[in-house]
Amino acid sequence: MTNRNDDPTPVSLLGLGAMGTALARAWLAAGHPLTVWNRTPARARALAGEGAAVAADPAGAVAASGLVVLCLMDDASVDEVLAGVDLAGKDLVNLTTGTPAEGRARAAWAEERGARFVDGGIMAVPPMIGVPEAGGYVFYSGSAEAFEAHRAVLEVPAGARWVGTDPGHAALYDVALLSAMSGLFAGMTHAYALVRDEKVDAERFGELLTSWTAAMAHAFVATGGAAGEDSNLEMQAAGNRTLLRTAAGQGVSTELLDGYFRLMDRQVAEGEPDAVVLLRRPSGSA
Ligand code: NDP
Repeated sequence: MTNRNDDPTPVSLLGLGAMGTALARAWLAAGHPLTVWNRTPARARALAGEGAAVAADPAGAVAASGLVVLCLMDDASVDEVLAGVDLAGKDLVNLTTGTPAEGRARAAWAEERGARFVDGGIMAVPPMIGVPEAGGYVFYSGSAEAFEAHRAVLEVPAGARWVGTDPGHAALYDVALLSAMSGLFAGMTHAYALVRDEKVDAERFGELLTSWTAAMAHAFVATGGAAGEDSNLEMQAAGNRTLLRTAAGQGVSTELLDGYFRLMDRQVAEGEPDAVVLLRRPSGSA
């Protein structure tokens, strides 16, 4: 856990699910006076025993500290929890996962109510919170003044990565990375399915999968995702058919690959050699 802090800063935290509870424990361990609120009061009991003050309602939690952190289910729950609560003069940090548009709308909403607003996207799971060596971090964007005022406190649970004053950008980075992860997990799921019934050393296979995908991620970023002359798209699309035939031979569904391969085929058919435009908007759409 994080070392105790020389400069205790009061923090209010609304939302004590798996993530909120982990955040709460990190701030308590660092010596920051913490006030918590949760819709289901029972979830606050253990934290009360660990030194947190428990507010009776959201208004009480917000009133207790200048820095107010939200870690709720979704944007709709933020609306519900903060309806009618006086936010004037507060610094609101929203760690609830949302879309870029929700981040921007929430920033305008907070500003109308006299609060400074910072949106956050958590790139960690609860066991990584308060464990710096685990490598988790949080993207932040919005009010630079509010972020700088609270940077030290915000760095307690996990690393803080500032991505600019557009309040939608923390969510944009968060969702972009999660989307990349989804594709990676889909590919890895398919890869494991291919070898499942074969005599393959699972540990060695896992190591190869990790190092190969990391190397290819570097190669992708280096070219900006463009296929280029070294690995032109037509050759890649032809290679995809070997992947599909292998899947059929191994009795594995190709559902996790089909959409991506279809886009590549279409791009080859349209004579567009650059893989980077694979997801361009269909012509005629806004
Ligand atoms: P949980 O499901 O464990 O907790 C959800 C929290 O939201 C609870 O405190 C719940 O209250 C509260 N809540 C839900 N709906 C409402 C509502 N209508 N009004 C008031 N409170 C409500 O989720 P997590 O703690 O894991 O996630 C919280 C946020 O953190 C999410 O936005 C999630 O995407 C994000 N996050 C989570 C990660 C994870 O691995 N857990 C990773 C990265 C981000 P109650 O106890 O009363 O049900």
